[in-house]
Amino acid sequence: MKGYYGEFGGVFIPEILMSTIEELTKAFEEAKEDKEFWEEYERILGNYSCRPTPLTYAENLTKYFGGPKIYIKREDLNHTGSHKLNNVIGQGLLVKRMGKKRVIAETGAGQHGVATATMAAKFGFECTIYMGEVDVERQRPNVFWMEQLGAKVVPVKTGNRTLKDAINEALRDWATNMDTTHYVLGTACGPHPFPEMVMYFQSVIGKEAKSQIIEAEGRLPHRVYACVGGGSNAIGIFSGFLEDDEVELIGVEAGGYGLETKKHAARLASKDASIGVAQGYKTYFLQDDCGQMLETHSVAAGLDYIGVSPILAYLKEKGRVRFEVATDREVVEALRLTIKTEGLIPALESTHAFACAYREIKQMSKDKIIIINQSGRGDKDIFTVADALKDELWEKFIIKKAEVYNANKLHK
Ligand SMILES: *Cc1c(COP(=O)(O)O)cnc(C)c1O
Repeated sequence: MKGYYGEFGGVFIPEILMSTIEELTKAFEEAKEDKEFWEEYERILGNYSCRPTPLTYAENLTKYFGGPKIYIKREDLNHTGSHKLNNVIGQGLLVKRMGKKRVIAETGAGQHGVATATMAAKFGFECTIYMGEVDVERQRPNVFWMEQLGAKVVPVKTGNRTLKDAINEALRDWATNMDTTHYVLGTACGPHPFPEMVMYFQSVIGKEAKSQIIEAEGRLPHRVYACVGGGSNAIGIFSGFLEDDEVELIGVEAGGYGLETKKHAARLASKDASIGVAQGYKTYFLQDDCGQMLETHSVAAGLDYIGVSPILAYLKEKGRVRFEVATDREVVEALRLTIKTEGLIPALESTHAFACAYREIKQMSKDKIIIINQSGRGDKDIFTVADALKDELWEKFIIKKAEVYNANKLHK
């Protein structure tokens, strides 16, 4: 059935949104058949951003570990600092095709909000960004730039005032203003056609990575590592290798304070999530027995989400993608090593992929090749990382947080 990946995916939306979802699906299907659409997409990303992004041979890290050759796909070099621009430029071109003039989006850490506001400024759309009130406080610089870019930022005061509440509010706006408005969903989640459409736009990462590694090494990599929030950068790079059974694909989720503390965002790599329907689609959610969403935690705001792409849920069940976690602590250590050894500053989100690769590299021989997807740059994380590194009693810090959490749970 269309829009389903095994039992996952679907279109679970209020009746009232059905016509706009159908309009979007039709526009997307037509655009896919139109060679000029993809050419314009590539032209804008090549000239306004910097595609193709390089595939960097990490010589120093390779020497440091003494194992497989490490290559890094440099999505951090995109305009606005992450892979998110690939998706918003693609959706922006669809908005033009549909003749709409207004875009809305949800944002957690603010990266998708800034990317969407940038696209709106470039294409001349009116723009509203929904952001949980807690995140508005935590991410002042991104709020400032969104406003400078001409977007209206609406702080969401419902629920626990973070990402999932912002998504609910954006869906509400869309249902009210669908004739004029397109909802720019930021990841490969939500109702069909979003997962397929976001994968389509992000597949540019995998296409490039495949031809670049063949050009550099004359063969395919043995493994590809990517971090998984909603799943868009992962499915983007994986899509280039899905048909190549010899390439092992590894998705890395947020292990937070450790799986045993339950303070994490591991939907596919832990046994804490279960299948459910929310926010328009069916997938694994971190939810309680009544279907209420649990609180997630990650040092990386972009991975801190209750659901996950239905496409990745399906690829897990099929056994095509292996899912692992990296804890906050492993991530901060991997970040420090990457900066000092290679002079690269990956985003905390991306560093989950690095941390998992570093852990597994020790079992791999020198004749192997791996690719790590650096989904974004880490400049935005300066305060979070500085806080973590300053804490010399890191061990205690982790235990303290876990204790606080457990104590809170007892009170409830
Ligand atoms: C938003 C974000 C992510 C998480 O989103 P996915 O859809 O899982 O890719 C990962 N890395 C960076 C740099 C991000 O900004």
